[in-house]
Amino acid sequence: MSQRPAPSPFRIPARELARRPGTQKTVSEVFPAPAVLGTDVIGVPEGAELSLDVSLESVSEGIWVSGTVTAEAVGECGRCLDEVRQQVVAPVQGLFAFDDPQVSDEDEEPEDVFEFDGEAIDLEEVVRDAVVTQLPFTPLCRPDCPGLCDQCGARLADDPDHAHDVIDPRWSALQSLTEQKES
Ligand SMILES: [Zn+2]
Ligand SMILES: [Zn+2]
Repeated sequence: MSQRPAPSPFRIPARELARRPGTQKTVSEVFPAPAVLGTDVIGVPEGAELSLDVSLESVSEGIWVSGTVTAEAVGECGRCLDEVRQQVVAPVQGLFAFDDPQVSDEDEEPEDVFEFDGEAIDLEEVVRDAVVTQLPFTPLCRPDCPGLCDQCGARLADDPDHAHDVIDPRWSALQSLTEQKES
């Protein structure tokens, strides 16, 4: 037996649908995310539960996939650095087309077209794009998060009346002068 890489959970067998337009099947699966899906600041962590609910429909060009992926993204608040958890329900859709040498003359390359080898479709890229699109650029623990104190780093949400005695620079200069004299 030759060594094979572990099959991707995103690879859905679809051989029975190939070249049989009109046939379809639904796939509802929950599996651990094989790699981080997201950005530097927020994403679905590796191993987190990913629910895939899609329908595969055989069409003349290949297989049309539509449905949703649901997962919980974990990130860091852009203001106070607290953990942010966000439920993501991302619409998934795309056409998995047969690798057909007949290239149409139409210039417009349709988006969301992926390759279908006649055996299985690999939803990883579609799912990744769908999830990332739903994620915020700057995650916030709450919309009005006041962030951190720029002087001591304390969380202002815990201590809204937080303040520091601001020493007038002229006074502090005088103060150090007096201290020098005294010593
Ligand atoms: Zn925050
Ligand atoms: Zn402070």
